[in-house]
Amino acid sequence: MDKDVQDNFDEKSAFEDALNEAAEYAAVPKSVTKRIGPTLFETVNNPRSATKIFEKEVADSGWCWPEAIALLRAEGKKETLKNQCEKFISFVMGKWYFKGQLFRAARVVGKRFPCIEISQGPSRWPCPDHADYDGLLLPSDTTYLRENPLRKTLGCKCTFRLINKWEYERMKNQ
Ligand SMILES: [Zn+2]
Repeated sequence: MDKDVQDNFDEKSAFEDALNEAAEYAAVPKSVTKRIGPTLFETVNNPRSATKIFEKEVADSGWCWPEAIALLRAEGKKETLKNQCEKFISFVMGKWYFKGQLFRAARVVGKRFPCIEISQGPSRWPCPDHADYDGLLLPSDTTYLRENPLRKTLGCKCTFRLINKWEYERMKNQ
């Protein structure tokens, strides 16, 4: 990866955006998000500690996340606050990762990478947002991902990858 491309991505503000979007989606009290934002960013490479920090702060607020509870139930897991917190942290991480990926991808679209491929990942359930696009190739300058961001909802585990021109030629000839 081009060093210059990575340097220009503001990891921290992208993380804050991801955290705020996720918090709004999961109705986490704003006071909690504000208080722990910087601390969470520092522990970002350790989801287990991030979960602990979040759980500790959110515990007194009476927060619970019905959508995560439903998902935990479907997965046969306990509906504990800790497990809901784990879902929240991984939701934030997924959003953050997508923002970085989208930023970097925007720099290399065009001739070197004519296409992107969206895939649903390992989820057992079809993505509520992108199921129709699973495995489809889209031109890399598509606005689809900006209009339909990945990881917008908890059920989305989708990822995308850039297809370079050699791979694209090979796929066309198959
Ligand atoms: Zn999706």
